[in-house]
Amino acid sequence: MRGLQLESNKRDRAVDAWLEKHLDGLVDLYEHLHANPELSLEEEKSAARMAKELRAAGYRVTTAVGGHGVVGVLENGPGQTVLIRGDMDGLPVREETGVPYASKVEVTREDGTRTGVMHACGHDVHMTGLVGTARLLAQTRSLWTGTIVAIAQPAEELGRGALAMMDDGLFERFPRPDYTIALHVESGVRRGAR
Ligand SMILES: [Zn+2]
Repeated sequence: MRGLQLESNKRDRAVDAWLEKHLDGLVDLYEHLHANPELSLEEEKSAARMAKELRAAGYRVTTAVGGHGVVGVLENGPGQTVLIRGDMDGLPVREETGVPYASKVEVTREDGTRTGVMHACGHDVHMTGLVGTARLLAQTRSLWTGTIVAIAQPAEELGRGALAMMDDGLFERFPRPDYTIALHVESGVRRGAR
């Protein structure tokens, strides 16, 4: 018990120290992703960036898995396999936040109408979290063993991207996970709150 506690304290400290050093770079990545959103099934540049980041972190990367899906694998000795998922698509929403890194992206939809595009659902946060987690795990390899499968998933808003990646062999072509982790951000403002 004591040993486990010491181990986890050591890990917590390593994570805190790592974040302190790398947070600014991750915020830059977040602002870049926020300013450059893409609609579902059109996540070409986001996928390219995710592939580049995962490769740079030392992952073996495969692109075009179920459309624009990206899979990065990091093997670190014997142990269990953990899959970490981040999604990439933005929404057809015109941004009016006024933040310096606001999206000015506008596209023509299939029906010919114009729409703004915005990361209004927070998938820019998810991609940043995926890259940060992937980098952190790669740089703290002495603290864990096993395999990480980091995936950037397209078309979450349509409910199709995860299925497309599985249909394209996510669980056959890459290590099958014992655990899968995904998260979704939530607005701090509650509707109806005074
Ligand atoms: Zn979402």
